[in-house]
Amino acid sequence: MAGVQIETIPLAKPVLGVEEEQAVVEVLRSGRLSLGPKLAEFEREFAEMVGARHASAVSSGTAGLHLALRAVGVQDGDEVVTSPFSFVASANAVVFERARPVFADIDPVTLCLDPEAAAAAVTERTKALLPVHIFGYPADMEAFDALAAQHGLGIVEDACEALAGRYEDLRDVGQRENPVVFAFYANKQMTTGEGGIVTTGDAAIKERIDSERNQGRAPDMDWLDHDRLGFNYRLSDIACAIGIVQIRRTAETIPARARVARAYREALAGIEGLTLPCEDVGKARRGWFVFVVQLPRGIDRDETIRALGARGVQAKPYLPAIHLMTFYRERFGHREGEFPVCEDVAARSIALPFFPEMSDGQIERVALELRAVLGQSAT
Ligand SMILES: *Cc1c(COP(=O)(O)O)cnc(C)c1O
Repeated sequence: MAGVQIETIPLAKPVLGVEEEQAVVEVLRSGRLSLGPKLAEFEREFAEMVGARHASAVSSGTAGLHLALRAVGVQDGDEVVTSPFSFVASANAVVFERARPVFADIDPVTLCLDPEAAAAAVTERTKALLPVHIFGYPADMEAFDALAAQHGLGIVEDACEALAGRYEDLRDVGQRENPVVFAFYANKQMTTGEGGIVTTGDAAIKERIDSERNQGRAPDMDWLDHDRLGFNYRLSDIACAIGIVQIRRTAETIPARARVARAYREALAGIEGLTLPCEDVGKARRGWFVFVVQLPRGIDRDETIRALGARGVQAKPYLPAIHLMTFYRERFGHREGEFPVCEDVAARSIALPFFPEMSDGQIERVALELRAVLGQSAT
């Protein structure tokens, strides 16, 4: 291959067009760049899309997790039971409030927090459960509702990867009473550049999040009086305007993601020892965000990623176990062996290129290169 120019297939690629450009220009020309009309419009349309009663747009998914945890009452010294197999933000948001993320192991099939392991991790200090719908696969909310009811716990759902997912009870992810957090970084199912939103069925939660994202101002309060501590977690009208267009685009991008996933399943079938993302179990439905495979045992994950990169296929470790990250080891004394399922999956998982406009040719090339790198080339 030396000297041959090869196209690099990126890990992710947002779908953006002239409609987003026009929407941004319109806001710029209006002069109302934040707390303008696009904010409420974006919130209304997002809530409608997922079937939620309320939605509060915020500056990131992480900000949404932080405010949602505060809204269910998490405070200094509390414990929150959550998954170690997630993007680090879900655990970090707990630490922001000086609460303790208490990890429990994951289900080996869905890779979501295992309800039985979570139940075993509940103590007198537990205040809330924070299940993560990892890789868009909805966690078992029926089980977590029962556990929360039994111990009087709050629930916050990290749905930052799960737009367009559906729970076992057939409702769309986001359509629940407790706060559900989505994110809009450029690799997510839809993007506002940076951004997030919290849906809830509870008007009091919406009101508290709206206030705390805006320095603790009450909606009817005079300018610059504040009745509680708040943050600047606002999402600009520029971002909201992009989000409104992106919501409309989901009619195409969501089915396109599902198409790419189906094509990957076919293209990767027959690679020995490779574990593909689980098929939908029961009535739950994955909202496709990434295509993560677990490499065969005994394969060097980092070397595989390097070799794929040299062949023009971007890949990355996805995700590393949170409890084994330096900060979590040092702050909370975690070590290897605590969560064997998570650690085994995390050590073998890589994300492959995955985006709505991915062509069949690109999917086939990823499969071909992966086979070659794993020494399983078709003869
Ligand atoms: C993307 C993501 C977040 C955080 O979103 P940001 O908008 O980047 O702050 C949180 N949790 C999970 C599981 C994510 O994938």
